[in-house]
Amino acid sequence: MFAALLGFVGAALAGEVRVDVIDVGQGDAILIRTPANKTILIDAGDRGSNMLAQLAKLGVDHLDLAIASHPHADHVGQMAAVVNAFPPKVYVDNGMPHTTQTYEDLMRAVEANPAIGYREGKRGTVFNLDDGAKLEVLLPGDTRFSNTRSDLNSNSVVTRLTHGDDCFLFPGDGEEPTERALLDMDVGECDVLKVAHHGSNHSSVSAFLSALKPSIAVISVGIGNRYGHPGEEAMSRLGATGATIYRTDRDGTVSLFSTGGGIRVETEKSEGEQAANVPAAGMPEPEKALPAAPEAANTPTAQDEACPFPASKKSEVFHEAGCGNAAKISSGNLVCFPSKEEAEKSGKHSAGCCHP
Ligand SMILES: [Zn+2]
Ligand SMILES: [Zn+2]
Repeated sequence: MFAALLGFVGAALAGEVRVDVIDVGQGDAILIRTPANKTILIDAGDRGSNMLAQLAKLGVDHLDLAIASHPHADHVGQMAAVVNAFPPKVYVDNGMPHTTQTYEDLMRAVEANPAIGYREGKRGTVFNLDDGAKLEVLLPGDTRFSNTRSDLNSNSVVTRLTHGDDCFLFPGDGEEPTERALLDMDVGECDVLKVAHHGSNHSSVSAFLSALKPSIAVISVGIGNRYGHPGEEAMSRLGATGATIYRTDRDGTVSLFSTGGGIRVETEKSEGEQAANVPAAGMPEPEKALPAAPEAANTPTAQDEACPFPASKKSEVFHEAGCGNAAKISSGNLVCFPSKEEAEKSGKHSAGCCHP
């Protein structure tokens, strides 16, 4: 994204790619939609999750591609229901069977529908979405990991979405061996990391995070889960990257909008709700140094003279008053800097769209 902040020089892209890291409690479900409405779902929550209701809420009416990162129930719990409701053109998994009823029901649902094409996810598989957007499978490679702490986790289907200059990495429940393999293949930098394995300490190793340099990290995790996710050590390693960390247990569904030259984040829950639901213990607070949000009574807007350099609490850039992108910042997330110097002092950079 840094390159993007300096000005995106590629061909203009057709529109925004939207990625929703859906709040399904403890588990994963990630929805990707392109400007031409190609719709991809990676994982489908746990058995008890409200997956179909969540998809309905997000306005999903079809699926082009469904990917099961690995057959653990917190990733495929509702996948059979999803596949029945919205049969995808292609269904991808890591080719590793599992002994559970949930897995068997899912495979039966996939096999029962001749309209669904099955494909084992392997390195080298590329799904070209719209112009400028593609989803690549990075792992598993030719040989699967064996005798790891959890072979099902380690052999998660790892995908990378790129849209113009923007990059998203979805490593499923990949663990240290998965991350080492990504390092070995020179995975390079990526703006958004869907944090592996709900923030478990067995993932998010420092060397991997240093190579990836994410500016945004999203943890999909349930409140009060019995695994202690996210782990304290993983959180401190993630904190050390300087990335802005979002987590579905506090923020609800985290929605990311990629123009191909920058990413904007919106979360489902307001600040107030987050504060009420979750104690801040152990969480880095990157916004600490910023001025407090203005009171509602005389809230300036990002188009106001009272707000010469608007910024979102959720973003690392600041804008010029009147910038179209600044106008999209919700009042709850708006912070106003009196001068460019003050904005820079807070650690934010000049936005690529308006170059204040
Ligand atoms: Zn999981
Ligand atoms: Zn797992």
